[in-house]
Amino acid sequence: MSIQKIGVIGAGQMGNGIAHVMALADYDVVLTDVSQQALDAAVSLIQKNMARQASRGKITDDQVNAALARITTSMALEEVGQTDLVIEAATERETVKQAIFEDLLPHLQPHTILTSNTSSISITRLASRTDRPERFMGFHFMNPVPVMQLVELIRGIATDEPTFTACKEVVERLGKTAASAEDFPAFIVNRILMPMINEAVYTLYEGVGSVQSIDQSMKLGANHPMGPLELADFIGLDTCLAIMNVLHDGLADTKYRPCPLLTKYVEAGWLGRKTKRGFYDYRGDVPVPTR
Ligand code: NAD
Repeated sequence: MSIQKIGVIGAGQMGNGIAHVMALADYDVVLTDVSQQALDAAVSLIQKNMARQASRGKITDDQVNAALARITTSMALEEVGQTDLVIEAATERETVKQAIFEDLLPHLQPHTILTSNTSSISITRLASRTDRPERFMGFHFMNPVPVMQLVELIRGIATDEPTFTACKEVVERLGKTAASAEDFPAFIVNRILMPMINEAVYTLYEGVGSVQSIDQSMKLGANHPMGPLELADFIGLDTCLAIMNVLHDGLADTKYRPCPLLTKYVEAGWLGRKTKRGFYDYRGDVPVPTR
């Protein structure tokens, strides 16, 4: 199965990073979103991030220009249907993802592989609502996509071997490493990472530490490159809450109960870096803890 053209649905933090690395690996990319503003922001961010890589000597100006020329944007889902591989990277909500695949199905070529960058939602369930569960799987990049080495590949119950192999070859062409995970809530990385972040929020909620002392403790005491609350802001608090809810619902264990303080931040619209406020306030020159 030869993959040359890739459709990316959702041009947020993850979608723009996925388009970025795919274009640099010589794939043609069609990037879509329901928001023209998100598409415009994604393209200028990709330009900025590639320019930074070029200024550090990691890629050449010619590579930047060729990669940017390979990316087209569109608000029409039909154009995504004409690709060999679709990576859905829209908001972490099952109803949103289901509706996207439902709308996309009539426009797909028979051979197109469908994948989702979901952090936690059942691949088997998403696949079962399409016409091609055997050509459907999880393609889970880490944030920021151009920097992080790992891609989790998740087989749904029906995923066939040629589909898995084709996706693995894409990961290899990106120069990244694939880890295979089974299709259970939140797979491997987030099954382990999110309960830690949620516990950090409980630690804050119960007054055991402040934002600063919690992050500093885990950086200097556990050698983590970022504190858990800083990391939560980076991921997006809405995404963190959605993943905890998937773990809680899917595994029915109270140890995954989302912290009420996490819910409160999301209800306030304080979603972290992307809205400029979360456990830190990013509106000034330096991030300031909000608690
Ligand atoms: P985001 O909020 O930055 O972006 C989501 C984008 O999806 C927005 O631009 C929104 O306009 C768009 N969107 C919403 N509904 C849509 C629709 N019907 N059609 C097309 N576009 C639509 O979110 P994100 O952080 O980029 O997360 C996207 C996906 O990637 C989620 O499934 C998330 O779980 C997963 N993910 C996130 C991270 C992370 O660290 N943030 C890491 C790995 C995977």
